[in-house]
Amino acid sequence: MTGPRPVRAAVARAFGAPLTIETVMLAPPGPGQVAVDLRAVAVCHSDIGYLDGAWGGHLPAVYGHEAAGRIAAVGPGVTSLAPGQDVIVTLIRQCGACPACRAAAPVHCEAPYDRRRGPLSLPDGTAVEHGLNCGAFAEAAVVDASQCIPAPADLPPEVACLLACGVITGVGAAVFTAGIRPGETVAVVGAGGVGLNAIPGARIAGAARVIALDPNPDRRTDALAFGATHALDAADPRPWRPVQALTEGRGADAVLVCTGAPAAHQGAFRLAARRGRIVAVGMPPSGATVTVEPVILSALGQTLRGSLMGDVVPHRDIPWLIDLWRQGRLKLDALVTGRWPLAAINDAIAETRAGRARRSVIVFPDA
Ligand SMILES: [Zn+2]
Ligand SMILES: [Zn+2]
Repeated sequence: MTGPRPVRAAVARAFGAPLTIETVMLAPPGPGQVAVDLRAVAVCHSDIGYLDGAWGGHLPAVYGHEAAGRIAAVGPGVTSLAPGQDVIVTLIRQCGACPACRAAAPVHCEAPYDRRRGPLSLPDGTAVEHGLNCGAFAEAAVVDASQCIPAPADLPPEVACLLACGVITGVGAAVFTAGIRPGETVAVVGAGGVGLNAIPGARIAGAARVIALDPNPDRRTDALAFGATHALDAADPRPWRPVQALTEGRGADAVLVCTGAPAAHQGAFRLAARRGRIVAVGMPPSGATVTVEPVILSALGQTLRGSLMGDVVPHRDIPWLIDLWRQGRLKLDALVTGRWPLAAINDAIAETRAGRARRSVIVFPDA
């Protein structure tokens, strides 16, 4: 293996500004790493959060973390993957040895990783932040081998990439974090790219009712198409009333907040039943807060819990979700509402920002 190679990438130079298409240098895979020629990468709200500076980080940076591609090269010590293998690339790095990895909670792997010392640099040698551990808004990426899950040949790259983040985050929040049981009533707040996966997740877990809440009528239509039994206007000043009317006054057993809007997180408490679980899935900017009344939490026995990447175990759960897709039990193709070349990534981001996209996917010419 030789030295760094030039690749085209969408680079963030300033928070909140459009990405610029530039040639950056990508180092060859080091020990335990692989190089992946990317075939598809979706635009996720987390990319936009970082791009807007909502959660800090350094510039310049290359974001993009919901990706699929083909292994181009493997670094020393990698035996589980080989060149030519199609893979799904996630941001979930797993050391395999920390307390979280040993507890089957790899999304919380505690091994440190310095994104400023990743594989990307500018041609002049300036370090480029390895955004979300992937840097996948580029023709190719170098990631830890643990971030790659083999993709079967019948799974199109533009569908495969969705399994890296949005799908596992939504389905996993319902099945694993909320632990929905058969017969429960579930409220899904926000019917965007994650909420539209939480809805089938709740169905798969056996929910009796799945009530979607979204202020956007098109998204409410989407929610019903993806399996919600009811769709309510989240802009209603008292959205808990129709939820209570549907549940004999009880409220929802689980409330999955799948939007980053702080008001939606605040409103979730009113939707929950006694012993209800309120799950924070969507991520507001750092510093955004909600007010919790502890006496209500304790009196009603409610739980507030965060869900990162759906608490999935990627190598166990992504093959399961692929099976569900093959059986027609999980709509993945319909999540893709636009395909864009890398050069038009700012248009793809604008579609996502405007709420018009379920998922905008950047596809590469050979995909
Ligand atoms: Zn670990
Ligand atoms: Zn994501």
